[in-house]
Parts: sequence; C-alpha cells; structure tokens
Amino acid sequence: MFVLQKIHKTEEEWKKVLTPEQYRVLRERGTEAAFTCAVEEGVPKTGIYQCVACGLPLFATGNKFESKTGWPSFFSPVHPDHLEYIHDTSFGIERTEVRCAQCESHLGHVFDDGPPPTGKRYCINSIALSFSSSST
Ligand SMILES: [Zn+2]
Repeated sequence: MFVLQKIHKTEEEWKKVLTPEQYRVLRERGTEAAFTCAVEEGVPKTGIYQCVACGLPLFATGNKFESKTGWPSFFSPVHPDHLEYIHDTSFGIERTEVRCAQCESHLGHVFDDGPPPTGKRYCINSIALSFSSSST
C-alpha cells in the first residue's frame, strides 16, 4: 500500500528544483494565466497527472472534464488522501485551496460547481502538474 511521506524542503531547496514560474505558483500560491495549459498539448488519451514538485499522483485523465475556464479541471482526485484542503480567504473571497498532501505545494482551488458524480470542480494550475501516460 502506498504510504504518504511528507516532503519538507527549505524555500531555497525548492528554488533549485522548480522553475521560477513553478516556484511562484507552487510555493507562493500564485495563479498562472488562464489557457496556459502547460501539460495539455499532445496529451495522450489516458494517464496520470502528478505533482510536478514531488511526483505524487494527483489526478487521472478519467477524472478530467472540460470546464472552459482555461485551467485543467477535474471532478475528483485519484485518492482523497493525496490532497490537502485549506480554507482560503485571500482577496476577500472564500475559497478552498488545494495542496499536494506530500509536499504541501499549492495546486489550485476546489469549487462546488462541478459535474456529477461529485459536483466538485478541482481547478488546478497546469504548471503544478506533470503528465505520465499509462503504457497499457
Ligand atoms: Zn507534491
């Protein structure tokens, strides 16, 4: 069974493994411009989206839907324990921030206006994800 082990790096260590733009989004809770779609182009049909900082599997292509927001959107994670939820009131807006449970990197936000079966919309910065296609 997969057991989560927390990854703790100093901000200096994160700066060495992430690009400046990744660092801005993942560690400083920035938001990439809509329709950046870093991992979208040429994406094969099935696979897993992993945390770009630590490789933890977060979302599957089967959980993805077209939200037309300009950010990759999913209605559920591959495993509920792989995400952490933080109440976010920045900019005076009540939102739920989504973080990687393993390295605590900022991924995006989750909203309650998604499609069935969960009704959730995980709005994730594509720069926070790396894509691994399934070989089968
Ligand atoms: Zn991570």
